[in-house]
Amino acid sequence: MSTATLPDDLLLRERFGDIKPPLEPQAAVIEANRCLNCFDAPCTGACPTHIDVPGFIKRISTGNLRGSALRILDANILGASCAKACPVEVLCEGACVMHRYNHAPIQIARLQRYAMDSFEATGEELLTAPRGSRNVQVACIGGGPASLACAAELCRHGASATILERKDLLGGLNTYGVAEYKLRAADSLREAEMIRRMGVEFRTGAAIDTAEALEELESEFDFLFVGVGLGAMQRMNIPGEDQKGVLNALEFIASYKTGRLRELAGTVVVVGAGNTAIDAANAARRLGAETVYLLYRRGERDMSAFDFEYEHAKQEGVQFLWRRQPFAVRANERGRLLLDTVQVSEVDKALLPIPDSHYTIECDYVIPAIGQSPFAQLVQELRRIELRGGIIVTDPETGQTGNSRYFAGGDCANGGREVVDAVADGKRAARAILKIAEAAYA
Ligand SMILES: Cc1cc2nc3c(=O)[nH]c(=O)nc-3n(C[C@H](O)[C@H](O)[C@H](O)COP(=O)(O)OP(=O)(O)OC[C@H]3O[C@@H](n4cnc5c(N)ncnc54)[C@H](O)[C@@H]3O)c2cc1C
Repeated sequence: MSTATLPDDLLLRERFGDIKPPLEPQAAVIEANRCLNCFDAPCTGACPTHIDVPGFIKRISTGNLRGSALRILDANILGASCAKACPVEVLCEGACVMHRYNHAPIQIARLQRYAMDSFEATGEELLTAPRGSRNVQVACIGGGPASLACAAELCRHGASATILERKDLLGGLNTYGVAEYKLRAADSLREAEMIRRMGVEFRTGAAIDTAEALEELESEFDFLFVGVGLGAMQRMNIPGEDQKGVLNALEFIASYKTGRLRELAGTVVVVGAGNTAIDAANAARRLGAETVYLLYRRGERDMSAFDFEYEHAKQEGVQFLWRRQPFAVRANERGRLLLDTVQVSEVDKALLPIPDSHYTIECDYVIPAIGQSPFAQLVQELRRIELRGGIIVTDPETGQTGNSRYFAGGDCANGGREVVDAVADGKRAARAILKIAEAAYA
């Protein structure tokens, strides 16, 4: 069965044009030739999947685009999506030695995209060992970057890997969450399709939610990799938050990315100040909202969003309301929302309301984006896997949990980081499983 796809949505393309457009061939070669090919490659060290950055860039400069792409894919099977989604400012490009000489860093992400785009255009398949040539069967629960990377690595080495995904589409947050101007849902699905063609089996609409479902997997497979990500958005826990017009940030983002929501008019208030809040605010602006406020209970310096995401949101026209906390949502007779807020001050880390500072914002939508809750509870209850704060505890070297048949990686095990961390986790677990299997069958 092939992976489901989404129709090419021209309106979406227009509204969410590439934030980092592709390089033209000549520009790519010029940029590749700027790379100093450092012997200690701090860029490679800063990449959780340790892509050989100087190596793939060198191949671009000599016109060997296939070799360049294969170099990237060797380390990171989601090299195409990582080229677009990675916060490179704090990873490879942030570590580039050019900073030391007051020069702009090498545009590593755009070069990576250039190599990956050209590889994809050739339609070449990746070589894998024949499925089943290693006698080990692995179930990967969840179809996001962690499981895709784990399954692909297993498959490359001849193990059988099957992904069980609750939703209809593969890719996890690459498909449903990452802002469209960085990574299109359609591109994420194309990448998943490449992994399917490598020999990974996909079972979609397959939620593993019960003891029976897990037991079935345990009898069918030798090992289980848990890559279920994080769960639903946290609630604000204030009166009126179930009003029509209060939109869960993840569902809001997924709706526009899959073409179900195409327009948003009026005034929008996003609550929170992490990267998801910024993504939701920017998306609201691009979908047509005239005024978008981002409301945060602490100050500018306390935001968890990356600085470059904050700067981007300002450019999109998002307005920031600092040290303000919502305490109720109401609706007026015209059907608009009234978000009651109060100014707060921080005393010994506690946030205290300032008397007489109530302020009601009349708006059309409220989008809470105050973090996701872990939902690994199920796994712990059923198989006594240790959790800490809802996050699955794993061996940092292997990703193995306290239950030796279970491995875990990605957001459900690292607490919520980036796509590239999930890929690194999935690859690491696959390699550990292959090692155990090799020892067992030697
Ligand atoms: C709004 C948003 C924007 C982001 N933007 C970026 C960005 O720009 N760049 C970046 O690098 N990172 C970004 N991230 C973080 C990144 O998306 C995650 O770190 C990454 O997707 C984690 O991968 P994962 O495989 O662990 O989990 P996920 O991507 O969450 O995938 C988990 C999958 O498991 C499935 N699943 C869950 N439970 C079950 C079950 N019981 N049975 C079967 N399937 C199940 C889910 O449906 C999902 O498909 C963003 C995150 C969010 C929320």
